[in-house]
Amino acid sequence: INNSMYGSTRKTLGTRRGPSRQFIPPVLDRDDDDDELQRGNAMAGYSNHSGKNQSGKVASGDPEVDERLKNIEPKMIELITNEIMDHGPPLSWDDIAGLEFAKNVIKEIVVWPMLRPDIFKGLRGPPKGILLFGPPGTGKTLIGKCIASQSKATFFSISASSLTSKWVGEGEKMVRALFAVARCHLPAVIFIDEIDSLLSQRTDGEHDASRRIKTEFLVQLDGATTNSDERILVVGATNRPQEIDEAARRRLVKRLYIPLPDAGAREQIMHSLLSQQKCSLSQEDVNTIVQHTHGYSGSDMANLCREAALGPIRSITDIEFIDADQVRPILFKDFDEALHQVRASVSEKDLDLYIKWNRLYGSGT
Ligand code: ADP
Repeated sequence: INNSMYGSTRKTLGTRRGPSRQFIPPVLDRDDDDDELQRGNAMAGYSNHSGKNQSGKVASGDPEVDERLKNIEPKMIELITNEIMDHGPPLSWDDIAGLEFAKNVIKEIVVWPMLRPDIFKGLRGPPKGILLFGPPGTGKTLIGKCIASQSKATFFSISASSLTSKWVGEGEKMVRALFAVARCHLPAVIFIDEIDSLLSQRTDGEHDASRRIKTEFLVQLDGATTNSDERILVVGATNRPQEIDEAARRRLVKRLYIPLPDAGAREQIMHSLLSQQKCSLSQEDVNTIVQHTHGYSGSDMANLCREAALGPIRSITDIEFIDADQVRPILFKDFDEALHQVRASVSEKDLDLYIKWNRLYGSGT
């Protein structure tokens, strides 16, 4: 491979300023890392065999850009490929505790259709947008990842606030780029965290820029809906569903409440986190902890277990020299102490709000 052929692409990475002067692309200087860049380009739809370059000229040895990406800035493609496309380990439904209702609905309406588009067409066609709402730390992101793993789709994950803040002036282009790259990697799941900040109903004093991002997003979502063969699913997640305006809400056809974990789910979360640790808890201890964590979110449970796991370490004085297997097991007293440090992070008032919103706009319980 001729390295010089990436010269023109590389010059635009991190050095060129877009129309907005504030925009500083958060990319690493890859001057010394051609391999990395080539991998990124290959994944983003560039191929290394000769053909047309980005300006449409045929030049031997130049990377070929997927037709669908030819109007997209290369730096955005690179960023989407490296930072937004998720290359993490696969996830299974059993990794997500509880939430049986949401998991079943999702399997039926989105995962199966993505696996078998030949059966799920017409009336059985899948929705192109779904909304997961509920308190923070309850598994919405895990569900997004799991949908992608289970439907063998490429997972793109972005937080809507980064579109409106980090990408000042470029958010709209970024949305377009994101959908374009996704179309090159079908089937695709686009997970948008904090989607309320993208689709909020606050129009008074709303920045022109954020209105444009919102419009572009709705255009892209409508495009995906119209083109029923294109296997793209947008999964929006929010802790503030009430902020989403009506037009956007209508397009996110399935709206699933992702509640706090019940006792069984809390036990399962503890169980899976502690399974890798030396731990000495009786079933009675576990029951007591589960009872005392009513109102904890999944991530509160994870924090609790992390805090308790530090208990055995705190009593060691010579950490540098101790044998790893001499560290004592995690005991009930560690959890007892951790319960004073880690409290439930979601208020009753907020829960009430979710329940009410679910009654009005949610898709069943
Ligand atoms: P959010 O709903 O805010 O997207 P996440 O899916 O990011 O929450 O969950 C944060 C962390 O909390 C996870 O990485 C996991 O450790 C834990 N967690 C939350 N909910 C669950 C769940 N239902 N099952 C297992 N772990 C969970």
